Amino acid sequence: MSVKPASRVSRKARVPYNYLDRQYSRPDRIWKAMRELVRTGDFTLGAPVLEFERRLAEFVGARHCLGTNTGTSALILSLKGLGVGPGDEVITQPNTFYATVGAIVAVGARPVFVDVGEDYQIDVGQIEAAMTPKTKAIMPVHWTGFPVDLGPVMEIAGRRNLVVIEDACAAIGAGRSRRSVGTWGHASAFSFHPLKQLNAWGDGGAIVTEDERLIRWLKLYRNHGMTSRDEIEIWGLNERLQSIQAVVLLEMLGRLRADLARRMELADRVMRGLQDVPEIRIPRRDPGVVHAYQIFVVRASRRDGLLKHLAREGVEAKVHYPIPLHLQKAARPLGYKEGDFPMAEEQARDIVTLPLNQYLTNREVDAMVDAIRRFYRR
Ligand SMILES: *Cc1c(COP(=O)(O)O)cnc(C)c1O
Repeated sequence: MSVKPASRVSRKARVPYNYLDRQYSRPDRIWKAMRELVRTGDFTLGAPVLEFERRLAEFVGARHCLGTNTGTSALILSLKGLGVGPGDEVITQPNTFYATVGAIVAVGARPVFVDVGEDYQIDVGQIEAAMTPKTKAIMPVHWTGFPVDLGPVMEIAGRRNLVVIEDACAAIGAGRSRRSVGTWGHASAFSFHPLKQLNAWGDGGAIVTEDERLIRWLKLYRNHGMTSRDEIEIWGLNERLQSIQAVVLLEMLGRLRADLARRMELADRVMRGLQDVPEIRIPRRDPGVVHAYQIFVVRASRRDGLLKHLAREGVEAKVHYPIPLHLQKAARPLGYKEGDFPMAEEQARDIVTLPLNQYLTNREVDAMVDAIRRFYRR
């Protein structure tokens, strides 16, 4: 009896979505660094973790960085460390990955949604209307890897004495006017999941902050509250970034700028190729914006037909996501209904995520553009 190996890397796709097989076809430098780590046995909060935290803080332009086991725990620890808990409300958007809201619920707080704009980002103009006396925090998401200008959000938060936690899990390296995501909020969370731009061999995450008190609490809480082997100061958990993952991340961080530049180059190529196709709408990228394109999301007429057509043509497109969070079963206790967030709902019906990553060739991207043009007979 033969057992087919489970593989999430598709072999047949002409334009594949998943690029991990390409990225790690010859990870010689990582194996070398990994052998060194194994020789030292420095597996928990080892030298590579501390080195990675130092380098990531420098990369983002933040004072402090703390590695965590996932992006989700980076969000949870940020909320908890900034005092968000039961009875509090946290404002966020309904079109993000589940973990943004899962983290809010995990600390006992209540998520409050605000609709998004054409650019898929929280509509800052609607934030104040969603506030109540219980509002404690705002958690904007740099969704799709786009760097939201959080100046206006910080202004509202300052006036209302709220904390701001950036969900930058999808946006490492993104920025505007030379300012990186993660430098506006009181704390910011990053994810190093395999399909994020800076990716580990499994899970990883990080928090950056300027706040001395917060980073001290985070360091304790991440590691059982231990001040030494024999003493704890608070009850904590094990939320550590693995040394093994830090070894991979250190290697990848060195290439991140170049990888993001290539993503933007390919995004521009697709935009040029589709600019005369009115059925496809792509948010513009202003000069001075580094968009990290964790996902490349366009809006498409007859979306579901396009998806079928692309699948037949070997282009692995996806939808992030077809059901906005306020209409998920899990959100029923929050009492939202269809029509509450018209833009997020409209986008859920017509968005498509096209494959876009630094490993695609110009030729593959052109084949994708041609496939889309054929569908609309352009
Ligand atoms: C990936 C992601 C997360 C969760 O990160 P994990 O490392 O998978 O736990 C949270 N928020 C957003 C916006 C993400 O894209």
